[in-house]
Amino acid sequence: ENESSVSITVVGASGDLAKKKIFPALFALYYEDCLPKHFTIYGYARSKMTDAELRNMVSKTLTCRIDKRENCSEKMDQFLKRCFYHSGQYDSEDNFSQLDKKLKKHEGGRVSNRLFYLSIPPNIFTEAVKCASLSASSYNGWTRVIVEKPFGRDSESSAALTKTLKQYLAEDQIFRIDHYLGKELVENLSVLWFANLIFEPLWSRRYIRNVQLIFSEDFGTEGRGGYFDNYGIIRDIMQNHLLQILALFAMETPVSLDAEDIRNEKVKVLRSMRPLRLEDVVVGQYKSRSRGGVTYPSYTDDKTVPKDSLTPTFAAAALFIDNARWDGVPFLMKAGKALHDRRAEIRVQFRHVPGNLYNRNFGTDLDRATNELVIRVQPGEAIFLKINNKVPGLGMRLDRSNLNLHYAARYSKEIPDAYERLLLDAIEGERRLFIRSDELDAAWALFTPVLAELEEKKIIPESYPYGSRGPVGAHYLAARYNVRWGDLDIEQ
Ligand code: NAP
Repeated sequence: ENESSVSITVVGASGDLAKKKIFPALFALYYEDCLPKHFTIYGYARSKMTDAELRNMVSKTLTCRIDKRENCSEKMDQFLKRCFYHSGQYDSEDNFSQLDKKLKKHEGGRVSNRLFYLSIPPNIFTEAVKCASLSASSYNGWTRVIVEKPFGRDSESSAALTKTLKQYLAEDQIFRIDHYLGKELVENLSVLWFANLIFEPLWSRRYIRNVQLIFSEDFGTEGRGGYFDNYGIIRDIMQNHLLQILALFAMETPVSLDAEDIRNEKVKVLRSMRPLRLEDVVVGQYKSRSRGGVTYPSYTDDKTVPKDSLTPTFAAAALFIDNARWDGVPFLMKAGKALHDRRAEIRVQFRHVPGNLYNRNFGTDLDRATNELVIRVQPGEAIFLKINNKVPGLGMRLDRSNLNLHYAARYSKEIPDAYERLLLDAIEGERRLFIRSDELDAAWALFTPVLAELEEKKIIPESYPYGSRGPVGAHYLAARYNVRWGDLDIEQ
């Protein structure tokens, strides 16, 4: 029969990401009937484990959707029966050949499609790609490889990684994952402006004063700073997640929704951007703080971080797109760990209303009166538009109110995790939400010079207390471009 099968191998199955995200996402897809009829899942890592031990490990992190509890444990059992484990080295073609034999058995002569998810540290990426592709590629179907960040640490190392990957794989076999692209509200960005007449005409320098991309976490590295210290917040969050969101936000209408059409538009945005300059960057690092009898640590208190580390745990940056649509509009990014809250959002601040009849109602603070569109990616997915409104009553007083779209209130459905969307797309060969290598090159070209300068000049990050709003330098940077960070207002 020429029915096809899909084998999904999670390389690094004993690790954190596999447990936390990959297996639960695969289960959710199974539960939603999104996996093909004939599928097999293999965990691959050096640790010794039996199939039963893998199943036991995986079973602990599987969850059912709140709105779909029925038959859940039955489904879990069925799912776990399709999960297997193969112990092997990442640099052994023999070990991958053994895996190949096992996969063939499960495929039972059907067309064999194979997906490898590389959930391993970057220093062993290329060995694993080499061995998997030489010894465990499909012989009559497709072979695809999902690669996790980091994709290098600057232009040069990223290009070297791409070059080695391409020795073994064609570009269309490589699925570079940026899990932010799988988030519901990031996917919704294009719908928002390309499908709404009230937004589409406003989408340019003519009406938009600035755009802010904000990411914050309310915890530090907490003993897991080993990896982070070598990268820092700019590489960890800005160069990939925030920049990807920016490109989706600012791109021109693509010819179609096809992956190549969308990625062509994104890469145009990235290539139109001005390389980031040191004076447009503020870096920070969190320091210890005692509050309410609890002492929160400094970044350098983390035992996995060198005492004299200059790695930024916070950064703010002003970026510009030198094209006709966005000329002169500051795109401000802000990302940090150990801040006062956890959120990821996009804020679009519109220009002042020209000749506003109601200006005197706002006193001297006209910024307060401008419209702002907020797209909250997480937590509590929401879109709200700040408008000026008359406070009911006999007088004429205005205030700023929100037109709200809170997902939890509007949609009773639980929002799928980003990894579910991305895994499903990889299985279906949909590349729209994965990073193409020219996009990656353009993204690195933007950040590499400033990253090198920060390191060469040993720029000392400005300190900020654990749990605060970050260094004051971020406010001066914004003020230089007449911007006030929008996340300082309290929203419901
Ligand atoms: P991890 O737990 O550190 O590593 C995954 C597995 O790789 C380990 O269980 C281990 O398995 C093997 N391994 C670890 N260090 C190794 C070494 N030095 N040499 C050979 N094998 C080694 O990593 P993870 O947190 O799951 O993340 C996997 C990948 O996703 C990484 O590239 C990471 O950068 C990326 N990522 C992770 C997250 C996250 O939330 N954790 C988020 C985004 C991206 P065995 O010892 O059994 O072989």
